[in-house]
Amino acid sequence: MCGIVGYIGRREAAPLLLESLKKLEYRGYDSAGIAVLNSGKVAIRRCEGKLKNLEEILARSSVHGTIGIGHTRWATHGRPSETNAHPHRAGDVVVVHNGIIENYLELKEELSRHGSHFESETDTEIVAHLVDAKLSNGADFLTAVRQSLQEIQGSYALVFLNQRDPERLIVAKNSTPIVVGWGEGETFIASDIPALLDYTRKMTFLEDGEVGEVTAKGLRILDRKGKIVHRAVKEITWDAVAARKGGYRHFMLKEIHEQPRALTDTFRGRVSLKEGDVSLEGVPLTRSDMKKIDRIHLVACGTAWHAALVGKFMLEEIAGIPTEADYGSEFRYRSPLIDSRSLLLPISQSGETADTLAAVELGRKRNASRSVSGD
Ligand code: GLU
Repeated sequence: MCGIVGYIGRREAAPLLLESLKKLEYRGYDSAGIAVLNSGKVAIRRCEGKLKNLEEILARSSVHGTIGIGHTRWATHGRPSETNAHPHRAGDVVVVHNGIIENYLELKEELSRHGSHFESETDTEIVAHLVDAKLSNGADFLTAVRQSLQEIQGSYALVFLNQRDPERLIVAKNSTPIVVGWGEGETFIASDIPALLDYTRKMTFLEDGEVGEVTAKGLRILDRKGKIVHRAVKEITWDAVAARKGGYRHFMLKEIHEQPRALTDTFRGRVSLKEGDVSLEGVPLTRSDMKKIDRIHLVACGTAWHAALVGKFMLEEIAGIPTEADYGSEFRYRSPLIDSRSLLLPISQSGETADTLAAVELGRKRNASRSVSGD
């Protein structure tokens, strides 16, 4: 998961976008960026890593303007890097995207044949090029976006900015959340409620297949066929903590209910059903390393240890490799039989569980292969 924000109104957009993105940090991300429009020109600032890096870039090289979009990225297509960070731009169009464009390769080839040049390895960049191509053919901004959406398949929350059309942002949603907040003479966009609570409690939630035209006065929603949708504005009464709990009584309950989504998000872009292949960027093991593994040790504490028990069951059944679920606090006090053909798979939600880290240290000393996982 990752985050998307947008703003149109009277305030300086950059600090507001940054603050809103910070409220979405809990969703996880590997890079970030914003685009702000001023006097017909878009300024983009992007970086790999944390929002703190973006903040530093903006302190050195500020951007001004009262309309803008922002993004925290969880890379699915193309490694985390400044070039792959959003916003992406083609001509006058700038876009931020959460999700995956499934048919991006076909579209990229097609667009390349017509002269488009791509800077990034992302699936997202093709969307900017699609819209830009329609604008060049004379379509207006909203129509260009709607026509482009007809060509893309996949999941998306998208926010578009057009430097020649400074009075509006266009948003679109399919399978990925997007909420619009209503202010006085200003309108806010985000992936989730907590990002907007400092500014407004009046919110409208887009549904799948809908496109929204966002101006400083508010939101106009169109359905797939272009028919206007009338949706009541919701008054959010939750405080910030309740909002982060997303309507659940406890964070734990929320996390339990989020499991299907968390799993889908983790697999997103890493499993290709078409090619029957898995790509594990970030796992420092090659295919031939993996073939050498003849024993797996899952090491964890507490709830993560229960996850390890399920992992043992699945790994033995699917991979056919003998697997042990070890308790982190005991692992280093016995003499575990690990060597370079063993894979040590620590599981830790915080990444800081001391006993699990000590087990990793022991594994390193004995040359075990290591993969990293969070639960
Ligand atoms: N698929 C896009 C990318 O890899 C968006 C990822 C996201 O949801 O942050 O850039």
